[in-house]
Amino acid sequence: MSKVKILLDESEIPTHWYNIVADMPNPPAPPLGPDGNPIGPDALAAIFPEALIEQEMTQQRWVEIPEPVREAYKLWRPSPMFRARRLEAALGTPARIYYKYEGVAAAGSHKSNTAIPQAYYNHKAGIKRIATETGAGQWGSAIAQAGQFFGLDVKVYMVKVSYQQKPYRRSLMQTWGAEVVASPSKDTQAGRNILAQDPNSPGSLGIAISEAVEDAASRADTNYALGSVLNHVLLHQTVIGLEAKKQFQLVGDYPDIIYAPCGGGSNFGGVAFPFLTDKWQGRDIRLVAVEPISCPTLTKGHYAYDFGDVAGMTPLMLMYTLGHDFVPPSIHAGGLRYHGDSPLVSQLYHEGHIEARAVPNLGTFEAGVMFARAEGIVPAPESCHGIRAMMDDALECKKTGEAKCLFFNLSGHGHFDMSAYDKYFAGEIQDYAYPEEEIKRSIARLPQVKRPESP
Ligand SMILES: *Cc1c(COP(=O)(O)O)cnc(C)c1O
Repeated sequence: MSKVKILLDESEIPTHWYNIVADMPNPPAPPLGPDGNPIGPDALAAIFPEALIEQEMTQQRWVEIPEPVREAYKLWRPSPMFRARRLEAALGTPARIYYKYEGVAAAGSHKSNTAIPQAYYNHKAGIKRIATETGAGQWGSAIAQAGQFFGLDVKVYMVKVSYQQKPYRRSLMQTWGAEVVASPSKDTQAGRNILAQDPNSPGSLGIAISEAVEDAASRADTNYALGSVLNHVLLHQTVIGLEAKKQFQLVGDYPDIIYAPCGGGSNFGGVAFPFLTDKWQGRDIRLVAVEPISCPTLTKGHYAYDFGDVAGMTPLMLMYTLGHDFVPPSIHAGGLRYHGDSPLVSQLYHEGHIEARAVPNLGTFEAGVMFARAEGIVPAPESCHGIRAMMDDALECKKTGEAKCLFFNLSGHGHFDMSAYDKYFAGEIQDYAYPEEEIKRSIARLPQVKRPESP
């Protein structure tokens, strides 16, 4: 019988995270302080625990996963990999399609892979409370649950448009004990400033990050937690790719192309980085980060030093950016509405090791519905971006007769996104144009700093 589910035993949960920094051809560009000089660990100590700051800066290739984190991972890891035989048949493609399914986490996405260790390290450092932001609600749910596991209070600044679109994401976070407010909120100076300019602001991840960072920086018992972008977050997500490599070994196959939706870059980095080392050792493999045309950070952004948030409270990071005050259209893939991208993913893209592709909004829902009808799982709107790109290539294989091996990370399920699917069925989902003029204006407001000489 032909295999569909490719499963690993609990004992095969990785014991170490993989750190791409150890193998990158060029060292990562350092984050800069407001004075334009590289920042040291001290600058981050007000909002992050020491263990995570160390992981943010480490060059060590393998970082041990603490036992309590592996214990919590056991609730859903190793995550299953599937051979999408029914989708292959529906598309009539000779391509072999595989996907890793991260929606088996209770909170519904890959975000729990980093929420658990972040809550663990903060608890261990004596922190009592976490302030954070959430776009689509996936990260907020993951950290709410993780906070509950390790005895932390959690306050979530939820991007207003998602707060309105997804009331049950809010209920879910509350069930796990978190306090949730719509961002921009009146609880912070950053939020009040935005509301004074635009009382109807739909919010953005950049705004919500400013609020959460301000909250964390102003209270000694509170730290900040970020669900993507930073090096330590991508590090934690490598459990996805490390498991996937073992799963491919089990079936004696190997991907030609890997796809993942890309917002801040954590699930892409998580699935792709463990395979990138194979590429550097001569293996023929392509790694594709997929983003929305309406928020085209890698494909249309500038590679420059910029803030991670609207108010300019974070360190400056060298990354692809649309400008820190760019507010993307209110698409339903809220997890992909971020103006910047992980500095590691950005640098690897800039140096030509990975690829990026932008896909249209309507096409992502079309792909998601087709996937759900063939495979059963209803994908999160973010995940639909990776599916779209993969499906385009699978259909190309159908034309050329090539039997390529295509692998994508199904980053989460869409059970709390059914209002978006409703809109798609009602014909109310539009294709947003690439917001060229607005991006030009926000790029013109990029902070002017000199890039440090590469070492
Ligand atoms: C957050 C999220 C993404 C995108 O975020 P990355 O930081 O790029 O990983 C993709 N899919 C789902 C389901 C998400 O929750």
